[in-house]
Amino acid sequence: MSNTSGRKVIYSAMQVTGRLHLGNYEGALRNWVRLQREYEFYAGIVDLHSLTTAFEDTSAIVPYTREAAADYLAAGIDPDVTPIVVQSRVPAHSELHVLLSMVTPLGWLERVPTYKEKRDQLHIANPSYGLLGYPVLMAADILAYRGQAVPVGRDQVPHLELTREIARRFNQLYGDIFPEPEALLTEFAVLPGLDGRKMSKSYGNCIYLSDMPEAVTEKARQMFTDPAKIRKSDPGHPDQCPVYAYHAAYSPGDALQAKADCEGGRLGCVDHKKQVAATLIAAMSPLWERRAAVAADPGRLDDILDDGARRARAKTEETMELAWKAMKLR
Ligand code: ADP
Repeated sequence: MSNTSGRKVIYSAMQVTGRLHLGNYEGALRNWVRLQREYEFYAGIVDLHSLTTAFEDTSAIVPYTREAAADYLAAGIDPDVTPIVVQSRVPAHSELHVLLSMVTPLGWLERVPTYKEKRDQLHIANPSYGLLGYPVLMAADILAYRGQAVPVGRDQVPHLELTREIARRFNQLYGDIFPEPEALLTEFAVLPGLDGRKMSKSYGNCIYLSDMPEAVTEKARQMFTDPAKIRKSDPGHPDQCPVYAYHAAYSPGDALQAKADCEGGRLGCVDHKKQVAATLIAAMSPLWERRAAVAADPGRLDDILDDGARRARAKTEETMELAWKAMKLR
């Protein structure tokens, strides 16, 4: 597949229904930063996807979009290399969604497990057409760039399979336009939240990338610990403790010492939390510095998003020309 850079095209995106957290960084952003030099990468912010659940009150979408862009930059996305693309600003996402929706059998969408999960978890009594069509919009996002690979975690592989099936069906009907994007599997440990469950904005147990040092210290103080360890001298079980999980993730060297001390009754939870707060603050400091530079210059963020939209439009308009022609609409 030809492209301007000679590198493989990859697309990945984040939804904006909340601020981005350390789990998003560990599970996605950190990897994107690595991949951006190797691939022709488009980093999406999928605001239209947020409408599938947040259509009644849309007032937070624009502020969250800007926060997400700031987080991408803070994480180390280089906007000169990687266009940061706000989905609603690039018409091809919506146009291709319409075309793909015509060739996607309803049954394929009804059997997507995350559709049922979302509907039930969020108690949506009357699910919208858009919610059911979410995977078609996701397919359009990727295929608009003729993306050849998508960096995903193992849990997202079934979603990508649907994109591949939709691409295959379009190609069978109208000619070979779309590559079937492959999973660029990234292995990462799921980062626990403050309460030990998976860190997720739906659980309210997050350390956000935009949290300041004081907030991180306070959150470390609130972290759950091993319930069997009440006094410092009680032997702890670090493998079941989120405080230790953070320590091991961010400072594996001295975490081993802390593990031995916790198990041996020589390290209490209050002191361990202080150590972990300091470790997290050290790890997040480079992000905060970059974030502060972004916050100090809102005009630059506007320019970055304008530029991302312009480059994405140029790329995806080529795809749309091919798609319209293939469907004999041009
Ligand atoms: P949330 O659970 O907060 O709604 P999303 O489902 O929007 O997060 O996830 C966006 C990206 O961040 C995905 O690539 C996902 O794999 C990654 N991610 C989210 N939470 C975590 C976590 N706790 N640990 C590792 N990766 C995560």
